[in-house]
Order: sequence, then C-alpha cells, then structure tokens
Amino acid sequence: MLRTHHCGELNMTHIGQQVTLSGWVAKRRDLGSLTFVDLRDRYGITQLSFNEEYNSTLLEEARKLGREFVVQATGKVTERSNKNAKLPTGEIEIIVEKLTVLNPSLTPPFTIEEDTDGGDDIRMQFRYLDLRRDNVRQNMMLRHQMARYTRQYLDSKGFIEVETPVLIKSTPEGARDFIVPSRMNPGQFYALPQSPQTFKQLLMVSGFDRYYQIVKCFRDEDLRADRQPEFTQIDCEMSFVEQEDILNLFEGLVQYLFKEVKGIDIGQLPRMTFDEAMHRYGNDKPDTRFGMEFQYLKPLTGDRNFQVFDTAECVLGICAKGCGNYTRKQLDELTEWVKRPQIGARGLVYVLCQPDGSYKSSVDKFYNQDDLEKWANLCGAEKGDLILVLSGNTRTVQKQMSELRLEMGQRLGYRDKSRFSALWVIDFPLLEQDEESGKWHAMHHPFTSPKPEDNGKLESDPGAVRANAYDMVINGTEVGGGSIRIFNKDLQARMFKRIGFTEEEARNQFGFLMSAFEYGAPPHGGIAFGFDRLCSIFGGADGIRDFIAFPKNNQGRDMMIDAPSVIDHRQLKELGIKIQ
Ligand code: ASP
Repeated sequence: MLRTHHCGELNMTHIGQQVTLSGWVAKRRDLGSLTFVDLRDRYGITQLSFNEEYNSTLLEEARKLGREFVVQATGKVTERSNKNAKLPTGEIEIIVEKLTVLNPSLTPPFTIEEDTDGGDDIRMQFRYLDLRRDNVRQNMMLRHQMARYTRQYLDSKGFIEVETPVLIKSTPEGARDFIVPSRMNPGQFYALPQSPQTFKQLLMVSGFDRYYQIVKCFRDEDLRADRQPEFTQIDCEMSFVEQEDILNLFEGLVQYLFKEVKGIDIGQLPRMTFDEAMHRYGNDKPDTRFGMEFQYLKPLTGDRNFQVFDTAECVLGICAKGCGNYTRKQLDELTEWVKRPQIGARGLVYVLCQPDGSYKSSVDKFYNQDDLEKWANLCGAEKGDLILVLSGNTRTVQKQMSELRLEMGQRLGYRDKSRFSALWVIDFPLLEQDEESGKWHAMHHPFTSPKPEDNGKLESDPGAVRANAYDMVINGTEVGGGSIRIFNKDLQARMFKRIGFTEEEARNQFGFLMSAFEYGAPPHGGIAFGFDRLCSIFGGADGIRDFIAFPKNNQGRDMMIDAPSVIDHRQLKELGIKIQ
C-alpha cells in the first residue's frame, strides 16, 4: 500500500495512529536538530517531522529531499506544539519512522505556491507543474463541480447528452473555421465546429426533444483574455417550446449552479430588452452590479451657443458618486482616457458638484448655475459628486459612455468579483447592417427566428425586425445566448436570401437542414453557455485561461507541446498539400 491516508485529512482524531502518506515535497525547513517537510497532494498538506534525537539517519535522509521529490513516509500522527490554524491538518504532524524516495525531481523552474514567481510563458510551458499549484487546481475543481451540477440539473429535466461530430463542414457563424484536410478526399477539407448548431437542430427533427452536450467548439478568431481558439459550451436544444419556456428552464440552471457551487441565492433574473439595455447602459451586456445609468441631457443643453452640444444628436451624462473632489489633473487624465483611439471620444465635459452647492464645470462659459443644476437633478448628482458628459451620434456616444461607465465603476470599486448580478437581455434585432458594404448579417445566426409579428418586415424594413433571441448576462459578461429557431423551410429560405445567400449557396451549405425541415420539423429553440467563461465568473477571475487545464496563449500556441508545428513533407504530400 503506497498510502493509508491522503495529505489533507489527518487531524487530532488520528493522534497516535500509524499512517503512511505519499506526495510531493512542497517545502523543507531545517532548524538545528529538526527538519520539517510539507508533504503535498491534491487534498492538502501535512507536516512531516524529523528529529535528530529520535533518528539521526532519517534526519540526514530528509535533509537531502529537494522540492517536488515524490516521497512516501510512514510514522505516527502526533500533536504539534506549534499549530497552524490555516491548515486543516495544522494541529498535527507525522513523526516519521520510515522514508522512501519514490522519485526525485529536478528543481522546478518556478515555485509551486499560490503567489508563484513564474511568469506566464514559463508557467504555460510547464503547465503540469502550474497545475500543482493549489489555486489553479481549485479552479479545475470548480470546473468539475460546474459540469457535474449542470449534468445533474439537465438530467433531472429530461435532457439527454448526445455527441455530435467534430469533423464537419464549414458553417458561417461569424468566425473563421479551423480546417482539417482529408487524406482520403484529396483537395477537400473538414471544418471543426464553431458550435453544434445545425446538428442539435437536426436532433430535434429526429424527435430527441431535449438535447444537451458539454462540448468543445473551435473558432479561429483573434484572441483576447477571455477567448481561446478551442473552448467549451453547454449546448442545449428543446422542442415544442417558446422563448418563455427556455428562459425559465435555463434561469433554473444558473440558479441551481449558484446555489450548489457557491451557496448563493441569485434570485429571479430581471429581463431587459436590447433597446432598454442600450438606452440605460449603452451596452447589450450591461454590468448591473452598479447603477450609474445614462441620463439624456440633450433637452437641457440647447440655445447656449455651445456648438459641440448644439450639433450633437445625443448628449449623455453619468454621475460618479463622491468624485466631486477630482483634481484638474485627474480630470485631464480622464479626458485623455476617453480620447484614446479605443474609446474615440473627442473630449469630455465635466461638472463638479461643490460642497457649498455650487457647480464648477468645463463649460462654465456657456452654461450658468441654473443650467448645471438641472443637469445635476436629472443625473441624481448631489454635493460632492461628479457629472461626466459625452456627446455625439447616439450609437457612438452610447458606446463611448458605456466604456467610461465601466471604467468609473472599476475605479470606484463597484465591480467586486465576489458579487453577482445576472439578467436576461431579450428582443435583439434579428439583423445588423455592415456600415461599409450595407449588407445585412444575422446578429445571432441565420437559424434564429424573427418575432412572428415582425415577420412581414424582413424584406421591407430589415433593421426593424426583432428576433426571438436572448442572452444571459452576468456581471457585464455574456455567458450564454440562444434563440427560438426557424423551423419552416420557406422562412429559412427568406432569411438566407436576406443575408445575401443565393439559392444555390444556401442549398450547398445548408441543403441538409432545408431538406430536414420538409420531414416534419417541430418548433424548437435552444441556448449555449460559454462554459469556460461561466466557470471564470464563478471563480471570480478575469480570464478563462486558468479554468482550462491546458490552455493556449494569446498567439494561439500551446507552449507546452509546442503546437501548432510544421509537419513533415511526407505527411503534406499524402494530404495533397503544397506549401509554397
Ligand atoms: N449556437 C449558438 C452559439 O454558439 C447558440 C445557440 O443559438 O444555441 O452562440
């Protein structure tokens, strides 16, 4: 037997027992005639104790142990004189009687501790060592729990997990496909799925009624902190349902996850239309952990000869509580911040609400105290607050103000990662227009159904058509999204036409789906959650990387196995691929 217990379970109730533990040497401390070794495994850390008086040969052996050696130790569980309240095993130690080195280790390139000294690259290259760190492993445990409870919930609701293929054909869902050459079909390629969208819809045609899959998806996009070329979705589809049924069922899923995994009662999820979200927060995924909602000041800013506001379609203000004492330097810095190309504002107008009830603004030349008081009233600003104002074209200024609101929320500590605010955003537009080409695209994907009452406007007024589509948003991040689908062949054909597919293109790409719709397709709809993101939000982290066992870096590289890599000539030839 290599162990009788693991390293996280021994405590005062085991005093006097003879035990054997196996694990990794996390730390060794030599003090005069004593040596202590922290032995680590997945479950925790237990202190091994070596004493010259008790056994000097063993002490010498212990002093040869390097970090990350794999050892087995047998000895007696004894009460510690120097207790460590932070460790579950902190009241005891093992007085070692027998020590075996099961495997030595090279000195690891970084220390395996919560606050490691390893930079990103080196930790990625030695990910198997990084995963030994307690906090990284905790993230993986959280992920496991999330998957487990997801399965439990969906199973209890009658969903069955079905695997869909990974080698498929390109589907236009906005991103680029990863392509796999087919040796047996020279010159032809598979694509890796961006999502199992069409397959899950076909399963509904097959009568599976309720499908789910925790599934890898692949998108060849530029990477950011919360994106990976391969990621995981909780993908779901249901038949004979309306939007309301889906919202209720999946609201239930996140409530269940919050309860089981975090012990939090998240409550009912508010619903907000896309238009309302844009109006109040300038964002279709508003961070509702805090207010700082937009106020529309245009009706209060006219006729004062301030060209910037007079010519602007929209003047927006937000109130930053308690920032009325911002210095000139801070305000200049904030102005530079909104003028950065990423935000693109032309300038920033501010109003400081002074402690004496007066106002000091960057537009004092144009607006008197009465004017500014009206602004302040509309914005809910009181003495000691700061009003920030941007102006311009409505959509543009909403976007810019959204960024500024998030930034101020961050600076004011409103975006606390241990607090959660979830909501549904509904009634998205079905289509969006590309500014340059004037072409219409599906905002969600081409299988999303228009609201029946807007159906007739598909050709005449495409911008006004709303979709039966919904997103779930937590803390300003879209964690899931889905829609009620088109299940009628003619409507699907109209949709393809609207987004610029010729009949032939539609048949080539999606003939199988259109045909399936001729064999009794039920009304259906679904949703997919970004599983990595959901885990990172539950874990209170920014990026998804630390919730993926073996992630890729920002260049899409796996630093550990060094992929992607060139392949040898023979392989290329076999695949019929020529590289110039
Ligand atoms: N397939 C969609 C996506 O990946 C989700 C859905 O509509 O169910 O975003």
